[in-house]
Amino acid sequence: MGLVPTMGALHEGHLSLIRLAAREADVVAASLFVNPTQFAANEDFGSYPRREADDIGMLEAAGCRLVYCPQLTEIYPPGDSTRVRVGALSEDLEGAIRPQFFEGVASVVTRLFAHLGPDLAVFGEKDYQQLLVIRALTRDLGFPIRILGGPTQRDPDGLAMSSRNAYLGAAERRQAGALPAALQQACKRLAAGEAISDVCGDARSSLLSAGFSSVDYIEARHAETLSPMGTGSATAGVPGRILAAARLGTTRLIDNLPFQRS
Ligand code: AMP
Repeated sequence: MGLVPTMGALHEGHLSLIRLAAREADVVAASLFVNPTQFAANEDFGSYPRREADDIGMLEAAGCRLVYCPQLTEIYPPGDSTRVRVGALSEDLEGAIRPQFFEGVASVVTRLFAHLGPDLAVFGEKDYQQLLVIRALTRDLGFPIRILGGPTQRDPDGLAMSSRNAYLGAAERRQAGALPAALQQACKRLAAGEAISDVCGDARSSLLSAGFSSVDYIEARHAETLSPMGTGSATAGVPGRILAAARLGTTRLIDNLPFQRS
């Protein structure tokens, strides 16, 4: 069984993971659960889009055979006090800005793994740090589950598909393409050996000029550990990942791309 955990409001990005799971597993399962523990009190848990009936239809059409839609108390039974915290990897980048986030994700994914017992599980590279956190928890807790990463699906202007893109107004949606464009440009420059501090600084400025209200981070890191790569040229032959989070009005967008200096 291959499992694709989701929070619903499905789009082509999620469906691409279902199809990837279908190539690797005999039976594909998905979960639909908007997980409260990964949202901070001021975040969008209450307004997160919920379209369960549509989602189930889309999953079925994409080849998914089993959909797990647990109630809140099935995941967090009354009196529940158990949480899963992955170490340093989960405290940086997204974890530094959203301190509750990875503990919530790790806690729900651990329960989904325990409830469903999949042989493999698929997560999107769109949430690249999350993919690495899940790999770490799977290894550390000894789950016999193969973790696969699926490539980021994008709209024609390059914007990574996300359930939260629905929050963007028409003008914001036009500006949002500046995020993948800035990352692409940065990757080209990093691959050519330009200094990381210059490249990330310019990418930040370009987002602010394009109308983003703030940039939470834009960082070039080692692709496998997310440890920092310094401020100078990236080391040749070492896989890197540039990761960014930025706000457009009230919507927070994240994205990332691979790079390597040749
Ligand atoms: P979510 O419903 O946002 O929690 O996402 C469920 C899964 O879909 C996660 O593994 C995400 O990384 C993945 N995902 C979300 N957006 C995309 C995308 N544009 N391309 C590929 N995978 C995605």
